[in-house]
Amino acid sequence: MNKWTIRCAVVVAALCAVPSVSRAEGDRVFCARWQYQYTDTAEGEDYLLHNMFFGLWGEIDASHSFAYVLRDGLIYWFGYLDESGCSPPLSGLSGTYEFGVYPVLASGSSEVWVYPDFNMDFRFFANTFFQLSVPDGATDVETRSVGLGDPVANVAAVSTLMLTRPDNGHDGFFAIVYADRDEQVGQANMGNDGAVIQLGVDGFGSKLATRKSIIAHELGHAAMFESFGSGNVDYGDPIPPGVDPLCECGHVNVSAPFHCLQSKEFIGAAIAEGWAHFYAAHLFNNPSQSNASFAYYKEFLHRGIFFNWVEAPPIRVDVYDDPPWMANECSGSHTGRGVEYDWLTYLYAVKHKTPNAYTFADFQSVFLKACGDSDCDPDLHFWTWNMLKEAANDAHGPGSPKAEHWEDLGGQHRVDF
Ligand SMILES: [Zn+2]
Repeated sequence: MNKWTIRCAVVVAALCAVPSVSRAEGDRVFCARWQYQYTDTAEGEDYLLHNMFFGLWGEIDASHSFAYVLRDGLIYWFGYLDESGCSPPLSGLSGTYEFGVYPVLASGSSEVWVYPDFNMDFRFFANTFFQLSVPDGATDVETRSVGLGDPVANVAAVSTLMLTRPDNGHDGFFAIVYADRDEQVGQANMGNDGAVIQLGVDGFGSKLATRKSIIAHELGHAAMFESFGSGNVDYGDPIPPGVDPLCECGHVNVSAPFHCLQSKEFIGAAIAEGWAHFYAAHLFNNPSQSNASFAYYKEFLHRGIFFNWVEAPPIRVDVYDDPPWMANECSGSHTGRGVEYDWLTYLYAVKHKTPNAYTFADFQSVFLKACGDSDCDPDLHFWTWNMLKEAANDAHGPGSPKAEHWEDLGGQHRVDF
């Protein structure tokens, strides 16, 4: 069964059987906005903000979200809300309305479905969440805000932002997100029909879905899987523990310390994690500005004059200012190794530095070349910098401006080991 079949079976099951009402032009439009509330906001990014100036929570148009309108208990309209988060105009007959919004989003060939957890039956979920009454005689445009304090709405808000951003890296993207799991889990996996993301709690029991950077990070992993797969992801730390604390994660308590922004890893792991950080930075920053920041969600160990010191998350990372970390701070051989921090800033520069800025299709063509013109497989493809440099030449033409862009920035950000 392919994913389209599943969608019809699951999402529309309850509604397919009901005859749809003709959508005559009228004077009544129903709009929805996802409410969100994050603990990593106003760290220098541009989108999905809220702070003391913006209020304790924020809202975003529920663009591309599935919705329905009942009139006097009967289906009146259902479908995906438009770019502005609104239904088409519906004729404004009197009656009592109910307007429901599903955390199921679709735009073009991309889809994201958000559930709380595995055990939540979809129909039960749809019937109990985000359903609002609209009394008779209401105004022409009815706008409802939904989901405050709900991890599902926090994920839906990031998904909405993602689907409305230009060049979002998606072609046939499909992800299911379990936004509110009880376990200590935060990961993305590739399933048969698409990516599966699980967001649970961190080591201190707080919900990962309260951090928009984590939501976007996992969506970034999913975007990578869907675009070109993944190379080998081995976090293996080649340095004996304690020798090189600035390039390890001994200071990390908020989650499992097997990898972090500054840890030296095999290059495939540094690329996969750096990519996911980059994707989050890409989503939350306006590319027409010459600054970008990323709110990192684990502790960070800084070099001090006398003592190193730990900064608690969220860590405000200036995406335009990479030290570079591995070259400056890490000991031992760097060959075949990388640091997430360096790959975050490198990939962001490749994507946004003009005049040869990459599109996501450009990234896809380079990585597919590096994997022999097929989807990359973690069991088969062990990337090296030289392999990726040659792939950029193969993809864009030897010595072409885009191939040089890839290589030159690799030298500047010192990911060229
Ligand atoms: Zn990750």
